[in-house]
Amino acid sequence: MQGNEGTWDVIVVGGRVAGSTLAARLGRAGFRVLLLERDALPSLPAVSSPIIYAPTMAMLDEIGADEAAYAHNTPRLYHMVNVSRAFQARIRIPDYRGRDYAYAVDRARFDAALWDTALRQPGVTGRQQFAVTDLLREGERVVGVIGKARGGATETLHAGLVIGADGRFGVVSRKSGAGERDVSSRYPTSVYYAYWRGVLPLPEGPAAAAYEGDGPYGYLVMDSADGQAAVAIEGRSDIIAPPAGDSEAWYEGLLQQYPALWSRFVCAERVTTVRGMRNVGNLYREPGGPGWALVGDAYHQKDPLDGQGIYDAVATAKALAHSLKRWRQGTLTYEAALADYDETARVLTYGMYKTLQNRIRTSFYAPPALPEQWQRWIADDPAMGTLLGKMLTRQLPADAVTLLAPGIIAGAIARGAVRDFGSQVRQQLRERLPFLPL
Ligand SMILES: Cc1cc2nc3c(=O)[nH]c(=O)nc-3n(C[C@H](O)[C@H](O)[C@H](O)COP(=O)(O)OP(=O)(O)OC[C@H]3O[C@@H](n4cnc5c(N)ncnc54)[C@H](O)[C@@H]3O)c2cc1C
Repeated sequence: MQGNEGTWDVIVVGGRVAGSTLAARLGRAGFRVLLLERDALPSLPAVSSPIIYAPTMAMLDEIGADEAAYAHNTPRLYHMVNVSRAFQARIRIPDYRGRDYAYAVDRARFDAALWDTALRQPGVTGRQQFAVTDLLREGERVVGVIGKARGGATETLHAGLVIGADGRFGVVSRKSGAGERDVSSRYPTSVYYAYWRGVLPLPEGPAAAAYEGDGPYGYLVMDSADGQAAVAIEGRSDIIAPPAGDSEAWYEGLLQQYPALWSRFVCAERVTTVRGMRNVGNLYREPGGPGWALVGDAYHQKDPLDGQGIYDAVATAKALAHSLKRWRQGTLTYEAALADYDETARVLTYGMYKTLQNRIRTSFYAPPALPEQWQRWIADDPAMGTLLGKMLTRQLPADAVTLLAPGIIAGAIARGAVRDFGSQVRQQLRERLPFLPL
């Protein structure tokens, strides 16, 4: 287990969010880990825009990740802003263990900082630009990987356990034949985004601002590192479909359709190509089998509407590391450790996943037909803002939010009606009795 010729305790395939944080935790627990990454870091992942909230940062603290490094020159976002044609509402991001802000991180910088964190742990060795091409088997059991360093010869690497942290379309899930579960393909969506420099700020300062589109789609502008903003368009897959070979003009055309949004782009320049994903997958996979396991997007992937993928990748890595530690200590068999991991990971992610399917439906497929005034009252309501903020920062389980929402929505409408009625009365009194101190 000492070198590439020997046997590692664990080979982790994929060295971004899930892979690096898992390797760090396993290294700390005494495993000898080889972390393999196909790309050279820092570099952008295949697709991802970049919101993270305080609970993710709290888990990164546990492995010694340095906020000053992964969020270097990245503004703190204290607000989420919702903009529709008729009104604008803002939600203050609630405090979680002393952090009342989010970041739209630069994923290249963020992923590289997590890689460095992993490699600082005892027992963790990393190789970048090494692509795994197949799994090595003895009978049914996976006993290692076959792969190649860039420009090098094919190598065979042995391990007690191979973990796929290799994303949505990873080789470990494919070659192991991992079964899919809870697949949700009823409301397909697509997402396209690019980074821009010079986007004008909102009056509330750095923020993540969601703009409701004209059709079944919306925009998200996230102030990110080094004065750049990540600008995403998401919506129904049959509508959000760039013509072949012309995604850049199509993407900019959609931004220009929204004058209130486009007015922020008068001095802006796009600094990356347009990246995106058609028909974003929504599913879980089996947690593992003999000699292999899955984590992060390889295990559970979903629509990015709620911006929870990075949290889920870090949380499932934590859950897997915990179960594997118990296996190593002998308190669980390997099969029981996999079951334990699966149960914890689903407790952490499933409620949000179920709620997300409903949010996709009501955002893009069947929006509720509420009068505009009601929509404003709901969006403006402080209790509603608190509820959403606590859901996004995982301080309230999504299931609880589903239960509480109807009452809070009804209250918001009642409070809005009273507020509007009160201001109308005050306005009339002001006009008729101008000497009153109203
Ligand atoms: C459009 C979009 C927007 C998103 N926005 C957000 C957001 O705002 N907030 C949020 O929290 N989440 C967001 N997500 C989700 C988030 O990006 C993912 O959940 C997260 O990146 C998953 O991390 P991961 O480590 O599991 O996989 P990945 O980040 O995909 O990393 C997998 C790594 O494995 C490597 N790899 C793959 N195959 C091999 C191989 N054969 N050999 C070696 N290495 C290999 C890849 O090079 C890659 O580096 C978004 C996703 C999409 C699609």
